Amino acid sequence: MDKVNILGVKVDMVSIDEAADKIMEFLDEDKVHAVFTPNSEIIMRAYRDEEFCKLLNGADLLTADGIGVVYASRILKKPINERAAGYDIARKVLKKMNDTGHKLFLFGGKPGVAEEAKEKLLIDYPNLNIVGTRNGYFKSEEESEIVAEINNSGADMVFVCLGAPKQEEWINRNKENLKVRAALGIGGSLDVFAGRVERAPEIFCKLGLEWFYRLLKEPWRIGRMMDLPKFAVTVLIHGKKYKQD
Ligand code: UDP
Repeated sequence: MDKVNILGVKVDMVSIDEAADKIMEFLDEDKVHAVFTPNSEIIMRAYRDEEFCKLLNGADLLTADGIGVVYASRILKKPINERAAGYDIARKVLKKMNDTGHKLFLFGGKPGVAEEAKEKLLIDYPNLNIVGTRNGYFKSEEESEIVAEINNSGADMVFVCLGAPKQEEWINRNKENLKVRAALGIGGSLDVFAGRVERAPEIFCKLGLEWFYRLLKEPWRIGRMMDLPKFAVTVLIHGKKYKQD
């Protein structure tokens, strides 16, 4: 897979469909695959923190979540065709899993959210095999119990929705002990599946203004969002120093 090196993070140049196909292929390979969907905030974090950058690059699939990352790829002359957000990839994967019968575990969100997401998903995908749910609030000593719960469920795939960078770190820390074939770190997706959070209307996404919609809905995000302009400036000034292979 072709990659674009954005400030040290090697992002796969895949569309939503290609990412979903790749994830389904992972289910046939006998190892745990990590899938992360970095946005500009996360890439800025990796730019500042070498260890975190290594962690991201250790993933089996890294997709561009956010218009900032897509623009960065254009600036670096390796354009990614479309934004491949975790939620959109998950929808495609769910549709495929509805046909294949693979087993899915939903992990993350406030108590009750994963169960609500399960109920709603079964309306859209009646044959989907959801074998377990677990909220995303836990003490570190409970972690091995959670891994055991996921393993005992026989899940082929787990959605890990703890927000970034918690979910990436959780997957990385537990990769050795997990038996699933794919672990997807997909942020607030369970909230959206559960109907607790609305996605930005299509028009905002098309115009690359989803961040603006989120800011209107969740103004406390302003601090985190200041990384977007910093990211753009950093890519413009330093982006070309990173080797593209
Ligand atoms: N969350 C969680 N455990 C935590 C912190 C957060 O399960 O310890 C959940 C939270 O309930 C929400 C999601 O993680 O469902 C974070 O969503 P957000 O949209 O903030 O994700 P991001 O934009 O960081 O990917």
